[in-house]
Parts: sequence; C-alpha cells; structure tokens
Amino acid sequence: MAGIYIHIPFCKTRCIYCDFYSTTRSELKSRYIHALCKELQMRKEYLRGEPVETIYFGGGTPSQLAEEDFREVFETIRKYYGMEHCREITLEANPDDLTEAYAAMLQNLPFNRISMGIQTFDDSTLKLLNRRHNAAQAVNAVKHCRHAGFNNISIDLIYGLPGETDERWKRDLQQAVSLNVEHISAYHLTYEEGTRIYELLQAHRIREVDEESSVCFFSTLIDTLGSAGYEHYEISNFCRSDMYSRHNTSYWKGIPYLGCGPSAHSFNTDTREWNVASLEKYIRAIENNQRLFEQEHLDRTTCYNECIMTSIRTRWGVPLNDIEQKFGKELWQYCIDMARPHLDCGNLEIYDNNRLCLSRKGIFVSDGIISDLMFVEE
Ligand code: SF4
Repeated sequence: MAGIYIHIPFCKTRCIYCDFYSTTRSELKSRYIHALCKELQMRKEYLRGEPVETIYFGGGTPSQLAEEDFREVFETIRKYYGMEHCREITLEANPDDLTEAYAAMLQNLPFNRISMGIQTFDDSTLKLLNRRHNAAQAVNAVKHCRHAGFNNISIDLIYGLPGETDERWKRDLQQAVSLNVEHISAYHLTYEEGTRIYELLQAHRIREVDEESSVCFFSTLIDTLGSAGYEHYEISNFCRSDMYSRHNTSYWKGIPYLGCGPSAHSFNTDTREWNVASLEKYIRAIENNQRLFEQEHLDRTTCYNECIMTSIRTRWGVPLNDIEQKFGKELWQYCIDMARPHLDCGNLEIYDNNRLCLSRKGIFVSDGIISDLMFVEE
C-alpha cells in the first residue's frame, strides 16, 4: 500500500506563525495545476505499482482550488496510479472557504475526509495570528461539511499561544468537543525563525508560555479529550474509535508515499526526496520536462532511527519483532538495552510481547526517550 500527498501552495494571506511553503501568488494557479499533473505523470514509477490507499491534499490552502482543478488532479491520479484501493481521501481546508456551496461541491468529488485548521476559538487570538476566519465561521464550517454529508471531519488546534491560560485552553477544548468531530489534532505553538511571530517574540511584543504551563496544557488536552471519548493514538492526535488519519499514520509506519508540488517530500523505503520550495522554479522546471529536487539514500541506521522516531509516538509503538527482522539483531539489542532504564522507571511499556510504547508518564518526556533509543555512530 502507498499514499499520495499533493501540495497546494496558495494562501490568500500568510498566518504569522506559519513556516510551511506557500505563496499568495494565486495568478499562477492554472499553470501550477498543469505542472502538478505533469509531475504526477513523470513520477508514475516512484511507488513501484503499490496500490494507493490514501490521498492527501495539503498546503498552503487546498480549499483555494475550484472543482475543475480538483477534477484535473483526480483524473491524472486515476490514470497513472489507480484509485480503486483508496480508502481515505483528505482535503485540508480553511474554515472561511468552507461555505455551504463549497462543502456541497466537495461532495461531488472523491473526498471522504475534511481536515480543518481552526487553531483556536478565541477571536482576538485568531486576529493576532492573522487567520482569515473567526470562531463563528469555524463552527459553521463544521456544520456545512456535516450537512453536505461528510462523516469524517478533523480539526487542528494550537495551544501555548501568546496569552494562553488554562481557562482559555479548556474553553477551546470544550468548544472542540462540542463540535463532535471524528478527529482532533493539537500542536504546541513553535516559534520558527523567519516567521512574523518569531520577530514579535524577539522584539518582546509577545511572551512565550513557560514550560510548566505547557506541561499543564498538554495534560489538560489528554484528560479532556480522553474523557470525551477520544483515543490518544499519537502524541498530537486523537480520534473517535478507529477514525485515525490513515494517511498520516502511513508516515509513522514507514509506508511509501509520493509527494508532488513545491516543497513536497516523498519516500519509497530506499530514498527520501524533496522538491524545490519555490513555485516559480517548480513550474519552470516541470514545463521543461525536468524536476528540481534533492534526494537522500537511506542506510540501515537512518531507517532504524526514523522507525524509532515515528513509531514510538503512536499507540502501536515500536514493533520490536520488525526491528529485528528489518535492521538485524545488533540494532534490536541496542534498542532493548537503551529502553531498559525507561522500562524500569515506567516511561515505557511493552505490549503483546512486541510493541514498545510510551506510558502516560513517558509521553511527557518523549523527546528524551526518542534520543536515547536512536543510534548515533561514534
Ligand atoms: S493558511 Fe495554513 S499554510 Fe497558509 S499561511 Fe496559514 S497556516 Fe500557513
């Protein structure tokens, strides 16, 4: 099985915390869609004929596209990869784009999952972040998707935002729970160099939340969503029974995926590739039958480290039997030895005599555990 990621790099405006590759140059949209379809065709061998199980339109803002743009992309995927094994087809969307008419239009397309960047229900914070929607629009967007017939809706939240209090975060979570969506992702704000919010922080115009509050927010997140019936299946992800994101889970389980569009990453177990992060350069190259990308060949140690890094974050944990089979007895033994102190102090647990998982206590110190389990050549 395999996945396809389609990057749609257009945003009407830029949010101040964002470091994803996107542009406000919407006049390039139709040239871009042609180039994207051409890239899909050029790389039809990348997945080596593996059946495509998931497709994910991410961004940027994929909900900036019109019905005919999506049709062109889907026709290309169907022609070169086939869609008969697709189980999950996600559109990442901005709440302000999800009008009643747009949500209804999406139902005419193969999408069966909507992922919405709500971030917070606090209007003044949404304004500060330069998001284009307000809380009421977010609530309505979920209603419109439901009304259109979508029964797999995910929302993204950000916590640890400037001025965040325990009370405000609890309010956000209560609002999220009341929407009764199938999936919730919640990430702590990070201040990435080069973003506007990073500049505001450097200029002391906003303050970062302290470490103790961050831990408290994370704890509130796990408890609130847990008591509302959501399963905590990955450090930042929660779902109603079995409604986990199949596409993102494939990244964590080392399943091959093809990423098309500027800045998109691809992985086929031997190599990792990433396209140039420039819309203009990307289009020009593809129009000249070329691709601008970098590539990394993955050796055994890199694959082991990636497997640890991604699988330990999930409820399925590190599959110890697979570690032995794929990476050999030595790395398996290394993993067991490095896990031992964390097993002894209750940060890690083993299930089914095979799966090495973070305990509730371990989730709070996962970064340290991951770096202990990773193999560093001397
Ligand atoms: S809409 Fe998404 S991709 Fe675009 S600037 Fe905002 S956070 Fe970044």
